[in-house]
Amino acid sequence: MALKNQYLIDLMETVKKRNMGEPEFIQAVTEVLETLEPVVEKRPDLVEAGVLERIVEPERQIMFRVPWVDDNGKVQVNRGFRVQFNSAIGPYKGGIRLHPSVYIGIIKFLGFEQVFKNSLTTLPMGGGKGGSDFDPKGKSDGEVMRFCQSFMTELSKHIGADCDVPAGDIGTGAREVGYMFGQYKRLRNEFTGVLTGKGLTYGGSLARTEATGYGLLYFTNEMLQANGMSLEGKTVVVSGSGNVAIYATEKAMAYGAKVVALSDSNGYIYDKNGIDLPLVKQLKEVERKRIKEYVTVHPEAEYHEGCKGIWTIPCDIALPCATQNEIDKESAEILVKNGCKVVSEGANMPSTPEAIETYLSNGLLYGPAKAANAGGVATSGLEMSQNSERLSWTFEEVDEKLHNIMKNIFKSCDEAAKEYGMEGNYMAGANIAGFLKVAEAMKAQGCV
Ligand code: NDP
Repeated sequence: MALKNQYLIDLMETVKKRNMGEPEFIQAVTEVLETLEPVVEKRPDLVEAGVLERIVEPERQIMFRVPWVDDNGKVQVNRGFRVQFNSAIGPYKGGIRLHPSVYIGIIKFLGFEQVFKNSLTTLPMGGGKGGSDFDPKGKSDGEVMRFCQSFMTELSKHIGADCDVPAGDIGTGAREVGYMFGQYKRLRNEFTGVLTGKGLTYGGSLARTEATGYGLLYFTNEMLQANGMSLEGKTVVVSGSGNVAIYATEKAMAYGAKVVALSDSNGYIYDKNGIDLPLVKQLKEVERKRIKEYVTVHPEAEYHEGCKGIWTIPCDIALPCATQNEIDKESAEILVKNGCKVVSEGANMPSTPEAIETYLSNGLLYGPAKAANAGGVATSGLEMSQNSERLSWTFEEVDEKLHNIMKNIFKSCDEAAKEYGMEGNYMAGANIAGFLKVAEAMKAQGCV
């Protein structure tokens, strides 16, 4: 889909010039602006207020040195980032990614997406994102702790429970959040809900670990039902084997679907009998091992090197839950050829623009990341509420709230798509619904 509106074409040119060398960010902005064309035509007041020019520019970007000492006594230096993208509807909120591929362009694309996603949850959260090119894989607990302490020593100057509340993302799980929280508390001498995804013994929320994966399935179930389908008996391929993938698998199974594949950045497993989830949890959550170890316990299953091959496995539903741009046009075409009817995104921006075009032109149901994976941040919002009232809710209470939020997110996407003449295009619906709330708030607050 190419932009036709001249105002948006000019704005996109400015974004490209200003953010050279950041293709992921440009990709994320392009996707949103393309779907906002009908809004721009219907709402000249928002154009007049300069909302679009402002929404594509982060409010603040912080980049810093993270020195730490490894187990051999050698000084290592990583680069840390926090992008505070938009605070129109609440404190900045978004995870911290620890992965060697991290640079400012990745953090900006994630922060930009987060603005719309957080708006869709209906909770009062602005958008932000952070991270570092540090790789926790293969590091000892001591090394991870020293890195996290150094990272937080700088980050603590810029965040706070009413200002900016980071959380987990790729490479940042309960262990990393724990070390960061401990360091923040030591530096500031205050016990506040400055991070979410905390352990249950120190202010974490029940169901936060499960939330993104469960939420993905709640959303997907709504989308299927609205189109006369169900998860029961469907064959599902899930990529990744981290936090999102594991709990997406768990909930898909609970809905009666059969998950036959999972992956990591080295390769994928295919178990036609259905994945043995307790084994995956043991390997990934407890032992921190590679997914290929699965076939040592289940020799009847297959392990293949490389990530892309996972999309050649025939399935009814594909749930990409690993990383950005993991499904390209070629993989999307293979999915379609093999009879896949639904793609719903657990990861952020896992489909290239050409892959999305392939889903839409072939009539697949497509659940875009901003909406489909918003359950994680929604439950982080619920963790913030619990921290503020100094109470803990039961698993069932949190899970029920999460379920309702995901139902409402689907409804908003569906209704916005219909209102703007793009029925069934939930990507357009998500972008429009997410945008409008933030845009109204920005307009009301004046030129800031
Ligand atoms: P984890 O670190 O727990 O797991 C990430 C998984 O993806 C691992 O299996 C990892 O394999 C794989 N992976 C990472 N990078 C690549 C790559 N370049 N190529 C192939 N596989 C890769 O992260 P999460 O499960 O938390 O996050 C997964 C996705 O979901 C991300 O896009 C994240 O932004 C998104 N997300 C996460 C939320 C959350 O609450 N955690 C909320 C909303 C979105 P390996 O172990 O080999 O690195």
